[in-house]
Amino acid sequence: MRVFKFGGASVKDAEGVKNVAHVLKEMGHENTVVVISAMGKTTNAMEEVVANYFDDTKSHLSTLKEIEDFHLTITSALFEGSQPPVVKQVKTLIAECNTFLTNNRSPHPAFVYDQVVSFGELLSTSIVCAYLNHVGIAAEWIDARSCVKTDSFYRSAHLDWDRTQKAIHEQVKGPVLKISQGFIGSDDNNFTTTLGREGSDYSAAIFAYCLGATDVTIWKDVPGVLNADPRVFDKTQLLHHISYQEAIELAFYGASVIHPKTLQPLQRKEIPLFVKSFLHPKEAGTQVGKGVRMRPEVPCYIVKKELSLLRLSTRDFSFVMEDNISEIFKLLHDHKMSVDLIQNSAISFSVCVKDKYHNMDAMLHTLRARFDVEHTPEVYLYTIRHFEENSADALLKSHELVLEQRSETTLQLVMK
Ligand code: ADP
Ligand code: ASP
Ligand code: MG
Repeated sequence: MRVFKFGGASVKDAEGVKNVAHVLKEMGHENTVVVISAMGKTTNAMEEVVANYFDDTKSHLSTLKEIEDFHLTITSALFEGSQPPVVKQVKTLIAECNTFLTNNRSPHPAFVYDQVVSFGELLSTSIVCAYLNHVGIAAEWIDARSCVKTDSFYRSAHLDWDRTQKAIHEQVKGPVLKISQGFIGSDDNNFTTTLGREGSDYSAAIFAYCLGATDVTIWKDVPGVLNADPRVFDKTQLLHHISYQEAIELAFYGASVIHPKTLQPLQRKEIPLFVKSFLHPKEAGTQVGKGVRMRPEVPCYIVKKELSLLRLSTRDFSFVMEDNISEIFKLLHDHKMSVDLIQNSAISFSVCVKDKYHNMDAMLHTLRARFDVEHTPEVYLYTIRHFEENSADALLKSHELVLEQRSETTLQLVMK
């Protein structure tokens, strides 16, 4: 078996869906599981539905209607005026989502989020599967919720590998192409769960691991893994080969082309991962696998934006590490700050964080009772893997350096 993954960008409109069919024709489609994300920015729109549902001053209905129209527009472009059964399916899915919200009594936003946002993937896979069959590519639709079994940690569910393995073996049979959803699964009570934003790459790895797949290909709008995000940096270079370890490091530091959780299951079974362009499917792209660390060996640039730098110092000259570190980490954890970099001296401690849930003011209030705190908002964290002497020159010309940290392989610069 092979596993393919098409992300939101590859199915953002009717042309994208047609291109998926083209890629499958070019690359063959038997003994293949295709995992697909929600179309374009649908997941963001679904998040808006949930936000409006919980906001007493707003209604979720108009956003849901826009989502329905968006999918029906794609459907009518794909089937050119005819009324295929998938039109009814789209309307039914939207109605089901609305019925859930109308009847829901759960006050838990994360639970409601998963029940609602998952409709994005159900819609996209229904449309793609119908279109493939329409153009003569036999395909079977598989509900990922009956394959990917998780705990009930809504919005960021953890895999139950044993149950998932068993379920995938029961569900995925025969050589006919299978179409399933990325990002979603279900818990013991069969409530829908999601694996965290951008989690479809991880879904592809889950299917691949459980099926003992020969390889996984994630199809992207870029030629493969580059040494920097082309949306941010000029003159990027394609990495032809990188090791699992290097890919995990790049993803960890924030190279958003691969979801960080994707690599571990693949590495465990040594399943190669290809990252390729959906516009040029025959080009080699990047292979992630065993062997050399990276080819070509060039500096790789990763940037994280909208971070905050906090510099804490003790008022009584007590040592930060000995006396205060556990307290500081507990506060960071309690305020759901994701920590990107730490640096300490005897009496001061600096930490670069992402305040995803807007808890900074509350946390600063608590910290200031105990420490002198310098807060620098809106900083960038540049990470340069395999840096060379002049790798940071251009960055240093255009930004102000606030903090620097280096190891043998990695240079990190916090900049304003
Ligand atoms: P999808 O969700 O459709 O699978 P994403 O948009 O999540 O795709 O990922 C592809 C994008 O990742 C590219 O358009 C590119 O801007 C960005 N990206 C970030 N870092 C890199 C990198 N090192 N190499 C290639 N693309 C990168
Ligand atoms: N649709 C989900 C998201 O946008 C999952 C994914 O695309 O990987 O986060
Ligand atoms: Mg994505």
